[in-house]
Amino acid sequence: MLSVDNLKSGYGRIEALHGVSIEVAAGEIVTLVGANGAGKTTLLRAISGVQTISAGRISFEGRSIESIPAHARVALGIAQVPEGRQLFAPLSVEDNLKLGAWNRRRGHSGNDIHRVYELFPMLRELRRTAAGALSGGQQQLLAIGRALMARPRLLLLDEPSMGLAPILVDQILNVVLDLKHNGLTVLLVEQNARAALAIADRGYVLETGAITASGRAAEIQRDKRVREAYLGV
Ligand code: ATP
Repeated sequence: MLSVDNLKSGYGRIEALHGVSIEVAAGEIVTLVGANGAGKTTLLRAISGVQTISAGRISFEGRSIESIPAHARVALGIAQVPEGRQLFAPLSVEDNLKLGAWNRRRGHSGNDIHRVYELFPMLRELRRTAAGALSGGQQQLLAIGRALMARPRLLLLDEPSMGLAPILVDQILNVVLDLKHNGLTVLLVEQNARAALAIADRGYVLETGAITASGRAAEIQRDKRVREAYLGV
């Protein structure tokens, strides 16, 4: 579904990704494991089109997308749930959801809102509440729900468990697994590598802007170096 080939990107003269190649097949959860500053967010943002790239190729469902602007990539089926959720705090839950469907024709988002409410019934109860008043876990569900409003086939999910209590981390990652079972493909960035590898099919290890290991999630979990560096074993 997604193929990233030899991608380079950075900030001014600082190169943050030094030729990264990854693949994501339809129906998979693929996770990127790496320390702070390794380039995980930069890679997700390059795929969604909000980060410029200096070299490399990105193709989605067989089509080159690196010169397509971010909003058009959403229309093709790629949606990002950004790090830190980036909700519109003063707006209600329902208005945040509606904004997730902004690039579709008016009046076509009603069914999608109901679908999101079916997935996350808590959001229906909170639909008139300001997003900024929600708990961290509720905000994360809303950020995911807002992305689903664009009807993506590929979801780019950046640090969904950030700042959440351990019990909520498992709940959020179970939500991600449910999305996969509903047919969504997910590229997941997660500081909590142990939890991410537990639900992922495959993973890549990203270190200072380069992929240093890749494989089935179970293989990565057994890798001695990964265990020492990222799983605290
Ligand atoms: P984290 O888990 O902390 O979000 P990450 O793996 O997502 O880390 P990135 O945020 O992609 O890493 O950062 C990759 C590199 O790019 C780091 O060296 C970082 O300092 C640098 N960087 C990120 N954003 C900017 C920016 N806006 N301006 C300059 N350098 C940046």
